[in-house]
Amino acid sequence: MSGSYPNALKDPVFRVISKAAASLGLESYVIGGFVRDHILGRGDAKDIDIVAVGSGIDLANAVSNLLPGKPKVSIFKTYGTAMLKTSGIELEFVGARKESYSEDSRNPAVSHGTLEDDQNRRDFTINALALSLGEDDFGKLLDPFNGLKDLDDKLIRTPLDPDVTYSDDPLRMLRAIRFATQLDFRIEKESLEAISRNATRIEIISKERIVDELNKILLAPKPSKGFSLLRKTGLLKYILPELVALEGIEEVEGQRHKDNFWHTLEVVDNISKTTDNLWLRWAALLHDIGKAPTKRFDQNLGWTFHGHEFVGSKMVYKLFKRLKMPLNEHMKFVQKMVLMSSRPIVLASEVTDSAIRRLVFDAGDYVDDLMTLCEADITTKNPKRFKRYHQNFQRVREKIVEVEERDHIRNFQPPVSGEEIMETFGIKPSREIGIIKDAIKEAILEGQIPNEYEAAREYMLKKGKEIGLKVKGV
Ligand code: ATP
Ligand code: MG
Repeated sequence: MSGSYPNALKDPVFRVISKAAASLGLESYVIGGFVRDHILGRGDAKDIDIVAVGSGIDLANAVSNLLPGKPKVSIFKTYGTAMLKTSGIELEFVGARKESYSEDSRNPAVSHGTLEDDQNRRDFTINALALSLGEDDFGKLLDPFNGLKDLDDKLIRTPLDPDVTYSDDPLRMLRAIRFATQLDFRIEKESLEAISRNATRIEIISKERIVDELNKILLAPKPSKGFSLLRKTGLLKYILPELVALEGIEEVEGQRHKDNFWHTLEVVDNISKTTDNLWLRWAALLHDIGKAPTKRFDQNLGWTFHGHEFVGSKMVYKLFKRLKMPLNEHMKFVQKMVLMSSRPIVLASEVTDSAIRRLVFDAGDYVDDLMTLCEADITTKNPKRFKRYHQNFQRVREKIVEVEERDHIRNFQPPVSGEEIMETFGIKPSREIGIIKDAIKEAILEGQIPNEYEAAREYMLKKGKEIGLKVKGV
């Protein structure tokens, strides 16, 4: 199939590249994601890949010279690529190349090649589409593998033998699944089978690249599509074995528990309808991982997962560490969500003010995210229960607002400071100060006193007296 897409190249920068290439006597093309997304009507990407049949670095320099302010060209010698930024667009230039791979690395030996060579090395037919920047055939589509038809058929397919494609660079297996998820495409049968055959090869891929793809899958409209493909192809056990461990239903004495893997995927899809927060989506993905190691069958209680939230939050740390994800506030957030993931459920049946205050005290600024997670966790197929659970959580949410307006627990600051306690009783830093502060906090959370200075000071005096302290100068 062929055609012409001059409309894709309306941005004046494409004419500039065209002119620069002509002045160097080179052919140049826009290739990959930009072309794909334009034809799909996904809007025009801001990162644009340009192939030069010749030196990509020379072309980048020539383009910069023609642009206002001559933007800086960053050169990556090892890859023979160059990058520059102009009016919100990031242009990446590469010389057309042929690649040959060795067993143990995804970094190929490269040599100069033609446009076709370069299209051959692309991962998928839909990513090999190129638009000419030639002055005579500006906008002409070059589509040697029928990528246009695959876009129409919503199909992920490799230009060459899929076994070779995936074995050469196993990251492509994740990219296939990621594109299928982002675009809601199907992976061609041969490709899917090749991914299953080559799954262990994922082990040569750096953790950082794997996490990049996982994040993109998680940020898709329906992440479950990606995770079920990861599971089906066997990739998941190399990447997130904690999730694989959740799969399956056991039955003892006629009692069954739910399949926590498929439940988890439902929760992730649910939460993805209400939030784009990547870390909240991670929390949904991991909220039940503690259930595999804590699963027990009890004669009286049936299936139990005692302490799975605590165990799960510890597993979050190990998982982030293994995947070389930063052990920063995002990790702590995910841990906190997992740790607290059952708290609002207990509340839903009986909402007391003090339980609300404790929830808000423990969850702090994340209390809304926690409620969002709990609502997404409702996957019952019984419509009556579904409605009732949502109504219960709605009541919890209303109560949180009401209690918070009155008691201001959200960013709890002790109403009486340690200094004031020391000053009042004439004591030095000591255990007693902690005891008094804690007692004041407990009294507020329990609703024995309001969260106000006067009441707290009075309570401090009473508590101090109880533990044998005397007010200074009295
Ligand atoms: P997006 O930017 O939305 O992730 P993209 O298709 O632009 O999608 P990039 O990672 O930016 O993906 O790569 C640009 C192009 O480079 C791709 O369209 C593809 O042609 C090629 N490419 C990228 N990674 C690989 C790979 N691992 N193997 C083969 N070709 C690749
Ligand atoms: Mg891109």
